[in-house]
Amino acid sequence: MYTTAALHYKAKKQYQCDWCCQRIEIGDAYSRYRFYDGGEASTMRMHPECFDAAQDFAHEEGGFCEFVSGQERPPPLAENKPGAHN
Ligand SMILES: [Zn+2]
Repeated sequence: MYTTAALHYKAKKQYQCDWCCQRIEIGDAYSRYRFYDGGEASTMRMHPECFDAAQDFAHEEGGFCEFVSGQERPPPLAENKPGAHN
């Protein structure tokens, strides 16, 4: 099993998140990587926060990211750094 490094894109069309199964809307940021298992390849697309959750999950599982879609979507990543000026 092998996965490529994730790249970050802005959605040009609507996708379904492979982690939480919710929609990734046009214009939303998402993370994408390719996943190879045996002779099969697939493209994974996730919300950035879902990608983080999947990474944590993979880490706990020993580096492999085998999961079932329909996981709980984590809260969105905070984009504002604490202490930012108003
Ligand atoms: Zn998601």
